[in-house]
Amino acid sequence: MWLTRISRKSREAQIGAASFAAALMLAVAFILSGLADSFEQPLRDGRDQLRLSPATGEIVIVEIDGRSLEALEQWPWPRGHYATAITELDRLGAEQIAFDVDFSSRSIPAEDERLAQALAEISQPAILATFRQVNQAGEQQTITEALPLKQFRDHAFIASVNVDPADSGRITMYPNGVVTNGTPRPSLANMLAKAGGEVDTAFRVDQAIDIMSIPRISFIDLLDGRVPRAAVAGKQVVIGATAIELFDRYPTALFGVQPGVVIQVQAAETLLQDRARSGTGQWLVLTVVALLLGAHLVQQLRGRGGAIRGAMLAAIMAGVLVVSALALDQFAWTYIALSGPLVFLGAFIVALRFLVGVVNLQAARFTDLASSLPNRTAMQHALKQKNDPMIAAARLADFGEIVTVLGVERIGELDRVVARRLRLLAGVEEIFRLDNGVFAWFMSPEHCDDPEDAFASARALFTAPFDIAGERLRLVSHFGSAEGSIENAEDASELARQRGLGWSANARALHEETQFRQRLLGELDEALESGAISVVFQPKLQLEENAIRSGECLVRWVSPQLGAISPADFIPVLEEKNRIDDLTLFVLREALKRRDEASALGKPLNLSVNVSAQLLADTAFIAATVDLLEATATRSVGGLTLEITESAPMKNSELSRVALERLNAAGARISIDDYGTGQASLNYLQDFPAQEIKLDQSFIRNLMADNKDRIMVQSTIELAHALGFDIVAEGVEDATILATLTDLGCDYAQGWHIGKPTVWSEFVERLGQQPTLGVAA
Ligand code: C2E
Ligand code: MG
Ligand code: MG
Repeated sequence: MWLTRISRKSREAQIGAASFAAALMLAVAFILSGLADSFEQPLRDGRDQLRLSPATGEIVIVEIDGRSLEALEQWPWPRGHYATAITELDRLGAEQIAFDVDFSSRSIPAEDERLAQALAEISQPAILATFRQVNQAGEQQTITEALPLKQFRDHAFIASVNVDPADSGRITMYPNGVVTNGTPRPSLANMLAKAGGEVDTAFRVDQAIDIMSIPRISFIDLLDGRVPRAAVAGKQVVIGATAIELFDRYPTALFGVQPGVVIQVQAAETLLQDRARSGTGQWLVLTVVALLLGAHLVQQLRGRGGAIRGAMLAAIMAGVLVVSALALDQFAWTYIALSGPLVFLGAFIVALRFLVGVVNLQAARFTDLASSLPNRTAMQHALKQKNDPMIAAARLADFGEIVTVLGVERIGELDRVVARRLRLLAGVEEIFRLDNGVFAWFMSPEHCDDPEDAFASARALFTAPFDIAGERLRLVSHFGSAEGSIENAEDASELARQRGLGWSANARALHEETQFRQRLLGELDEALESGAISVVFQPKLQLEENAIRSGECLVRWVSPQLGAISPADFIPVLEEKNRIDDLTLFVLREALKRRDEASALGKPLNLSVNVSAQLLADTAFIAATVDLLEATATRSVGGLTLEITESAPMKNSELSRVALERLNAAGARISIDDYGTGQASLNYLQDFPAQEIKLDQSFIRNLMADNKDRIMVQSTIELAHALGFDIVAEGVEDATILATLTDLGCDYAQGWHIGKPTVWSEFVERLGQQPTLGVAA
């Protein structure tokens, strides 16, 4: 899993590279599709708006405006009006006069003559307009030129007034000159600005030149002599139509729709103010920006990224780009296209943010929040990349107690400290946190070779004290291992814990055990009903009289599914799941019933029933037992004994004492079972209402072989008698032992030598008789 394998830094660099590639592709597509240019347009308008600046005032427009049209009443005007106008302008000292008016067709000859006359008479030759026209006739395309009449041309300069609107209708580019039928013509703006320029090339009209600041004079004012000398003296004057009625209008970036003549002057002003700017295309700036950012990312990939993160750098670059573009705008040096590069930088930042978000989300999925250790999901991912590796799990014993000592808020710290030690012990880099107090890792090859040894030393070293949050703790861990399955390793560690082992590799045992438990619990009720659970009886020999007058009830379970199950297997399960009460009451009822039956046969019988320690704390159980005992108390001779393991009174002495007193008062004898296996002394037990001590089989079996056991048995018998207890020896398997016990003064003997546990019909036969010893019943 690359996320956990690679370092955080190089992960960042990889994300950077991916974002870079994505952003670059987007920007290239953006430019190639032409979208960049569409976006550039409004951007440029905005930038132009910022640097709006006035016209020089050196070029004045004489407007053929609505007012003049109205005053002169007829259109087209007799050319004599133009003659009057230029004569007046000349008189007022205009430096040069230019026309954006079509004089290519003839009018009334006298009027034409007047104009020709005036043109010849003014001190500087005027500039007359020529229009190039493209005529389309079917496939055939011809180009003609609408030149002014020869009689005008003779005394004037000719300038082209052709413009070439862009798709938007705007006049963005303005030609320096046009070639028509082989004849080159400079354009009007170039002539006005006295600027050179190659024909068939164009320059960009500076939209930021404030059209409104171009001085204007109404044609009619000129005719009527109302124009002061100062308005035109020494200036260039362009006569052209501005009246809406004359239709010569174009949209502009910042000033709405404007007459052609105004745009001609704006173009002339562009040259005059030297504001015809070259511009960098989208590609150049994009390349520069991408190279800079790319270089930074490469540095980062090499682990020398420095402090600046990719997104930050991109944002800074965007800022610098915009500021320098605006600055260059102001100085009218060059125009930097921004839309492509900005889309690139923006897309890079967005992609980076997005990917970092995704990766963080991924990382969160793979990390335990409190400890920052990789979690189970992380391990599952890592597992997929490996080929059935050996997995080890460590499980802290008594996790609940540890948390009580440390507090929940310190679990993260505990996990980190434990993981650190496990890293050393396991010789691996990565420890995964699976659960509370459960960790796992992929075992190193050395450990796989001899896991038993590896875990033995790991367990020993693990027990060295831990310092966690100012507490010094000694922790115990159980280890488990399995091939290729995290769950199996975990289960093996659980099995190790349950069985008190240092290490287990047997996960299946736990599964089987769990399954067994589940089945057992599922079958219990039915088994009690159906007879799958039954009671057998083992005789107890009264040694002094050499007669059998008592016995122990032992439960048997023959399951249709699981076969014969030993009490040693199912009793602990029922105890753990708190189902032991039902079983015990079942045995108790059976015992009381059989005792009554024996009594009816004239055979007094005392039967003992085993009671689990935990039932002494179960008041409902005690009440039910007392009820049963009291209900049957008067019915028969003989009695009932309850066997409680030695450890029971130690666990909760007060509760146990009260329970035992109640049971005792209800007529039950109390016997201490398996005496000698626990910590209770007879002196201690003396304080409890018990009448019988059952010496554990382990001492009896070794009676002949082990002198210590013999002394223990002898002294116990003596002390028990002194304290008023009857004493029973369990596990009597041969005649020698029986003879020895008789010599030592033991009261009762129980064991295979006297009789194995057996069904009621057989047991009842032997009641009151002297046993036929040596023959197992
Ligand atoms: P326990 O109460 O100490 O019962 C004595 C066990 O020793 C019985 O095993 C019995 O069959 C066995 N035994 C008797 N004589 C000999 C002998 O000479 N040699 C050997 N090796 N074993 C002998 P069992 O019946 O398997 O019961 C085992 C344990 O299960 C019992 O130990 C008792 O703690 C528990 N148990 C049995 N029935 C019940 C019950 O009804 N309720 C409860 N709570 N526990 C029961
Ligand atoms: Mg017993
Ligand atoms: Mg016993």
